[in-house]
Amino acid sequence: MAFKKPEVRSLAHHMAAAPHMTVSQFRRDHWVLMTRCPVCHLDCWVDLDAVVRLAGPETRLWNARSRCRRYGCDGRMIFLCTPPGQSRGAFWALGDDRGAKRGIP
Ligand SMILES: [Zn+2]
Repeated sequence: MAFKKPEVRSLAHHMAAAPHMTVSQFRRDHWVLMTRCPVCHLDCWVDLDAVVRLAGPETRLWNARSRCRRYGCDGRMIFLCTPPGQSRGAFWALGDDRGAKRGIP
């Protein structure tokens, strides 16, 4: 099979690969990540350089949750992604329904 650049691969290919990818692979392939709080709707960009440095390059974000950054909010933020080659501003969840239910505090 011939090599295809990440930006010309299909959305289906990216979303099938996403559960197995590490943060260093997201950074290498230029994925755009953000978090959204389901309680207060705060959106934040994810700095993949910082995640790699602080949590390690092998960290996986599929079904992961993070404490909300808004003062006084107890929400658990979910991760959203824009795979390489997809429209800017369009985000897909980095998780499945089972994980979403598990992530509700
Ligand atoms: Zn919040």
